[in-house]
Amino acid sequence: MAEQLNPFKMAQAQLDKAAKKLNLDPQIHTFLREPMRELWVSIPVKMDNGSAKIFKGFRVQYNNARGPMKGGIRFHPEETIDTVRALAAWMTWKCAVVDIPYGGAKGGVICNTKEMSQREVERLSRGYIDQIWRCIGPEMDIPAPDVYTNPQIMAWMMDEYSKIMGYNVPGVITGKPIPLGGSLGRGDATAMGVVYTMREAAKIIGIDLKDATVVVQGYGNAGYNLSRLLTKRGCRVIAVSDSKGGILNKEGLDYQTVKGHKDKTGSVIDFPGTKQITNEELLSLECDFLIPAALENQITGGNASNVNAKVVAEAANGPVTLEADEILSKKGVFQIPDFLCNAGGVTVSYFEWVQNNCGYYWTEEEVYEKLDKKMTKALYDVYGLAIKEGVDNRTAAYMVAVSKVAEVVKLRGWV
Ligand code: GLU
Repeated sequence: MAEQLNPFKMAQAQLDKAAKKLNLDPQIHTFLREPMRELWVSIPVKMDNGSAKIFKGFRVQYNNARGPMKGGIRFHPEETIDTVRALAAWMTWKCAVVDIPYGGAKGGVICNTKEMSQREVERLSRGYIDQIWRCIGPEMDIPAPDVYTNPQIMAWMMDEYSKIMGYNVPGVITGKPIPLGGSLGRGDATAMGVVYTMREAAKIIGIDLKDATVVVQGYGNAGYNLSRLLTKRGCRVIAVSDSKGGILNKEGLDYQTVKGHKDKTGSVIDFPGTKQITNEELLSLECDFLIPAALENQITGGNASNVNAKVVAEAANGPVTLEADEILSKKGVFQIPDFLCNAGGVTVSYFEWVQNNCGYYWTEEEVYEKLDKKMTKALYDVYGLAIKEGVDNRTAAYMVAVSKVAEVVKLRGWV
């Protein structure tokens, strides 16, 4: 059980399950179970009080068979190499399942930005690039935002890399602010991608997204944006939460006033007119869609049997453990697996990189139209295979992604 909660072991076990089903060449399987390259760095940063602090960071470059490696950078106080490894593996499968020409990578720095000034965060961001710049580049590895990093941090990182190279290199990083070569639509892209997959899942199980009840775990970027976009589409978001706890109002929550309350008080809890609930209670609420939009390992063998939703849309990376998968599948819950559900972010990152490379920029409408096509096709590729092979959606998503990566590994003559 404890082993299963190591995210990298979980990612490997998920791969093993699909490899078995695919009858995957054992050499390719062995190769795909481990990252191709890992970089461990120490980043010295001058703090505002004149002292120097040494931060630890990682960049895991999991696989580049299908193209340059791609994946976000997390600034997290509890970052571990195994979490970054798992996330880098999931990026590999994510890019393959939506068929964008990238491999997978992920970065992480152990830090707590809530306790740092903006100037300190800027020095840390530049310092991280100073350590990893030799291993990244528009044709090598393209970072992006993730947990506790944002467009401003991407701007500093792109600037630092460009200074080192001696010319402007917008394509080295995605998720940049719009005036610096960011793509229209990137800010909402992850949430928008989730919404597109939810819309299709609703059609498959025969409900209308317009009248659906939704429960969202997490009220950070993804959780808030999802609440906003879904409310605008007519859904009733009845409960949301953050690390301090959750709030419930069966009539529906107003996303804007909840956000205002969180900005003012630091949490969604104690929002007037709502019932206080724990995160555990939130996960067991009756609803059409349950959206884990926080961190890994939230729905586990210990609580999956309490899930009372028709669909679990995994906006976070790795929120459902293997043991929980079995339980949800037996209960007939329709799962939209994480690396499919939240692939909208990296898909628009790819669009950003394409626009940077050709210096020609698209309208927001064009971006969303292209995103919708990618997400919808990926969902039906996965669902179609799940039905054909009689497997759960996560195994099917792995089968689609892994066979694409395996095919190019073979074509390149690596094994
Ligand atoms: N961090 C996001 C993810 O996990 C986006 C990655 C990217 O845009 O490269 O998918």
